[in-house]
Amino acid sequence: MQETKNRTIAYAVLTLIAMGGLLWLSTKNRAVTVDGGFRITMGTVARILVVAQNQPQADAAIDAAFDKIYDIERLMSDYDPNSQLSLVNREAFEHPVPVDAELFEVLTAAKLYSCTSGGAFDVTIGPVVQLWRKAKDDNTAPTPEAIAKAKETAGYENLVLDADNKTVTFKKEGMFLDLGGIAKGYAIDKAVEVLRSAGMQGAMVDIGGDLRCFGTPANGKKHWFIGLQDPQNEEEILLKLNMDDRAVATSGDYRRFVMIDDEKHSHIINPATADSAQDLSSVTILAPTAMAADALATAVTVMGDEKGLKLIETIDSTEAILISHGDETSFEKTSGVDKYTDYD
Ligand code: AMP
Ligand code: MG
Repeated sequence: MQETKNRTIAYAVLTLIAMGGLLWLSTKNRAVTVDGGFRITMGTVARILVVAQNQPQADAAIDAAFDKIYDIERLMSDYDPNSQLSLVNREAFEHPVPVDAELFEVLTAAKLYSCTSGGAFDVTIGPVVQLWRKAKDDNTAPTPEAIAKAKETAGYENLVLDADNKTVTFKKEGMFLDLGGIAKGYAIDKAVEVLRSAGMQGAMVDIGGDLRCFGTPANGKKHWFIGLQDPQNEEEILLKLNMDDRAVATSGDYRRFVMIDDEKHSHIINPATADSAQDLSSVTILAPTAMAADALATAVTVMGDEKGLKLIETIDSTEAILISHGDETSFEKTSGVDKYTDYD
């Protein structure tokens, strides 16, 4: 009798433990999708979406990721006179300027992309960018003399990076760095690092339409997706891309341009001519990191379709989708793009 009672109690205890275990497992596996909403940074709008175990954890991770983005903006903005980049721009011709590891990392990568792209991507193009920005305000195109003068200091070989001391020096007076073609991508990657180490199961970080996704997709979906907008018709989606563990960046004159005498000038400068790069309406790059996607999108816009596609074909796990100017929307792409449009 006693034995039966003991066995019953033992079964009851075991059942309770099993039920408790199941309950623990189900809470553990339950994920919430939290949208951090739109926040202004780097002259545009950013948004972070995370998949997490619970709302408080998600909220804290989103705030930490945005703090990282704001830190990078404070380091790398050429608009902010108090940024570390502005200090470099003011003093690097006079003496080597010590910089934070993150700024040094971006400058090192920028030089590498300059080499890979044969100088199409070049952060020393700053004075020419400034000239076109001013031209927009004055509604007058810069004179050939002004362009020639601004171009004089450009050239990534004039940017000296000392890896041992983490210092930056300019070889020419009047040099000016502009990280507008790469810093957004870097900030996205750093925000992703923060979200991963905060234990997020998945996330998407979007700064001005350039973005990176990882892990579990939002709202119980099978994949992270993005729709590539048709530059001729903003309502239309040209291509739907699978974005699992991937970054994407788009450069294009349909998104940002300088308008002078009703003529559109791209905000991207061809360092070879110091004129705006006009050939392509939009360049989208898919890559493992957002920094690579960002820099290469800018580079390919300058290089044009033939050279640009050729370059991207040589880079591992990296693809390009190019849209030319014209009445009808047609696009060219590298051979591996189809991998990302194949989903179910
Ligand atoms: P994105 O929208 O990423 O293509 O970046 C465009 C921004 O990059 C411009 O607004 C400039 O600040 C900067 N930029 C323009 N031309 C170049 C270039 N040839 N190489 C690197 N950065 C550039
Ligand atoms: Mg870019």
